[in-house]
Amino acid sequence: VKEKPQEELPFFKKQIKIATRNLGVVDPLSIEEYIARDGYFALTKVIKDMSPDKVIEELKKSGLRGRGGAGFPTGLKWEFAKKAEGDVKYVICNADEGDPGAFMDRAILEGDPHTVVEAMTIAAYTVGANKGFIYVRAEYPLAIERFSRALETAREYGFLGENILGTDFSFDIEIRIGAGAFVCGEETALINSIEGQRGIPRVKPPYPAQKGLWGKPTLINNVETYANIPPIILHGGDWFAQFGVEGSRGTKVFALAGKVNNTGLVEVPMGITLRELINEIGGGVPNGKKLKAVQTGGPSGGCVPEKYIDTPITYDTLKELGTIIGSGGMIVMDEDDCMVDVAKFFLEFTVEESCGQCTPCRDGTKRMLEILERITEGEGTEEDLEKLKELGEHIMKTSLCGLGQTAPQPVLSTMRYFWDEYEAHVKEKRCPAKKCKELTRI
Ligand code: SF4
Repeated sequence: VKEKPQEELPFFKKQIKIATRNLGVVDPLSIEEYIARDGYFALTKVIKDMSPDKVIEELKKSGLRGRGGAGFPTGLKWEFAKKAEGDVKYVICNADEGDPGAFMDRAILEGDPHTVVEAMTIAAYTVGANKGFIYVRAEYPLAIERFSRALETAREYGFLGENILGTDFSFDIEIRIGAGAFVCGEETALINSIEGQRGIPRVKPPYPAQKGLWGKPTLINNVETYANIPPIILHGGDWFAQFGVEGSRGTKVFALAGKVNNTGLVEVPMGITLRELINEIGGGVPNGKKLKAVQTGGPSGGCVPEKYIDTPITYDTLKELGTIIGSGGMIVMDEDDCMVDVAKFFLEFTVEESCGQCTPCRDGTKRMLEILERITEGEGTEEDLEKLKELGEHIMKTSLCGLGQTAPQPVLSTMRYFWDEYEAHVKEKRCPAKKCKELTRI
C-alpha cells in the first residue's frame, strides 16, 4: 500500500508552518543547518539593506500581533521602543510560558533556538538596543541548554556579540531563569524578576517601551512572536498578511489537548474554524463521545460551547464569545466533563499563582473558589451563584494586572453557556456529567 505524502494527511493538510517551520527539520545544535534553511539571512538583510524604519514598516504591513496573549500589534510596539528617548535600551524575550497544557515556546526554543537569537538581534538593531535578556522558566532545562549553545555558536559566527557582521552594531543576549511563578509571564513582573526584585507586576503606565528594565526603554515579545520575524523580513510583510483574515493576520500555533484524537502542536492560518481544528486536524473526539466545549486561552480564557464550533478563530470572534486566543492553549472537552469542575480547575490554578499584591485578586479569587467547592460538593445555594457572578465581575474590573483581570473568565464563561449545569448542582444536587463524585449522576 502506497502511503500518502505527509502534507496530504488530515493532521498536516491545513497546517501552514511559519513560526514552527524548522521544528523537526533542523538539528537545533547545528548553526550550519539553520543557515542552510535561510537562517541569519534576514539579519544580514536588515543590517546591510534595511533602515530600522523599513523593518517597522514591514512588520506593520504583516499585521503580526503579539502571540503571548495580549495581541498587541508588533510593528507598533517596536515603533514605540524605537522612538523612546534613551541612550540605553533593552530587548527581552519572554519565554516564561505557563498556561497549563501549552508548550509552543518550549518547542521553538528546543527545536529552533537560532530563530529567536536572530529575531532578537533584528529587534535590537531596529530599536537601538545593545543588550538583551531571555527569561526562561526553570522547568525548561533542555530549552535553556539548547539556547545557550545557540548563543555560543552565533557569537562564533559573528551574528551576535561585538561588531555583528563586521559593522558597528554590537548586541548580546543573557539568559535569566525564572523560578516557576506564573505571574512572571506578565511583562512588568518579569522585568522586576530580571532586576533581582520580587516578581510582582507594576502599575502601567508607564509601559516597558517607555520605562522598563532598570527604568530604560525595553522591548518585550514572546518566543512565538520572535519566531515569525525572520520569515517576515525575508519574504515581506505582504507575504505574511496573505495568511489569516482582517485583524488577525498570519498563522498561530496551538497546543491541542484534552479529549481529542490527535494532540500536540499545530500551526494554522488565523481564521480557520474550531471545527476544522478539532475535527479535521485533531481527528475529533475519541470513543464516539460528543464534543461539549473547548477552552481557549488557558486560565485567562473561557470556554466555547459546541454550538459555536463553526466560529473562525480570530482575536475578535473569540472576544465576542467571551474568551481569548491567549498564548494558544486549546483544551477539548467531551460530554463527560463537568463544566463547574473545569472552572474550578482553572480557578485553583490562578488562586495558587496570584502574587497577592492586590485585594480583589488575592482574596476575591479565594472566595470564588470556596463557593465553587461548595457547589461541587452539593452544598451550594442559589445565592452562591449570584455571588459568584458578582465577585467575578468585580475582580475583573478592579485587579491590577492581567492575571486578576482575567482569572474569573473560566467561571463566568461556563456560567454563561452552561447555566443549567450550575443550577443542577445547586437546586437538584446532581452533576449532569460524572465528574463531581460526591453528587449523583443522572
Ligand atoms: Fe498580583 Fe493578582 Fe494583583 Fe496581578 S491581579 S498584581 S497577580 S494580586
